[in-house]
Amino acid sequence: MNTVIADLGIEPYRSQQIFQWIWQKNAADFSVMTNISKELRKSLSEKFTISGLKIEKKLSAKDGSEKFLFRLEDNNFVEAVFIPEGKRKTICVSTQVGCPLACKFCATALMGFARNMKAYEIADEIRIIQREKKVKITNLVFMGMGEPLLNLKEVAEAMDIISSSVGLSISQKRTTISTAGLVDGLDYLLTSPLKVKLAISLNFPNEKVRKKMMPVAKQNPIKEILKLAREYSHTKNMVTFEYVLIDNLNDRLKDAQNLLKLLKGIPSKINLIPYNPHPTLPYKSPSQEKIKKFHQYLLLSKHTITLRKSRGREILAGCGQLAGGVIK
Ligand code: SAH
Repeated sequence: MNTVIADLGIEPYRSQQIFQWIWQKNAADFSVMTNISKELRKSLSEKFTISGLKIEKKLSAKDGSEKFLFRLEDNNFVEAVFIPEGKRKTICVSTQVGCPLACKFCATALMGFARNMKAYEIADEIRIIQREKKVKITNLVFMGMGEPLLNLKEVAEAMDIISSSVGLSISQKRTTISTAGLVDGLDYLLTSPLKVKLAISLNFPNEKVRKKMMPVAKQNPIKEILKLAREYSHTKNMVTFEYVLIDNLNDRLKDAQNLLKLLKGIPSKINLIPYNPHPTLPYKSPSQEKIKKFHQYLLLSKHTITLRKSRGREILAGCGQLAGGVIK
């Protein structure tokens, strides 16, 4: 934007004003930008249009979470989820239309992959939900549709809009990027100026099972992922390991033991996510009793362990249930 404004021969501070109008005051038109001269507003309107995501559909769950289906300008669809928990208001953000990773247990994989989202589209999910819910969003998780580390350039640019004081003004420290564990992307993140928190979907401590369930694991061995995770936790922020608990696949005590062995010496949090079922997929969540045993075993370790409460399951708004309204 700064370069566009400069090319037009307009003072740089104007770009900040325009930015605030768009991202903080939800201006849909240049005409409302009253601290900018009439002539400039007119010339901007002739050259540019302000576009945004359109809400196609909203679904609310009893627990207060709400799923938004957005229509993009090219008529693709993405979903994002608003999750209120007391003062904390979180949005689960999508970064790609569909996902190319094809994890066997994930509903988004069933959509296939259409394209990467643009930075402004990613940030617009947040602007629009904030506008609709009339609350200040406090936390972000990049855990919606897609693999953020396969779209890092746009994700990093979106983070500029999101964390800028003239943009959405949400701190990077309250933003978590979740990845299936891509070595190249992790390498890039480590050296980038981004200060976000990192979550790695480890899910299967057994490499063979991991490769079967998450094809991307074939090119990204656990050992290399953990080496980078260790570095990240020492140089940047504590890392969270996500662990989707699936019945009979990774829910035995042996799996918990293996997990702890792998994570030994990495200061980290383990987030257990009981599997959210999807009508078209054959996987199930383990029984409450098995989940409890697994959880209790991990609690004996030095790691911080959280057990994710299922949010918005009945509206298919849980992790791995986002499929852009494509799957009925
Ligand atoms: N591609 C990124 C972000 C999207 S997936 C990643 O892999 O981290 C977000 C999280 O949802 C991941 O931890 C994934 O393992 C988990 N997940 C996928 N399908 C799920 C399901 N049906 N139930 C619970 N968690 C699921």
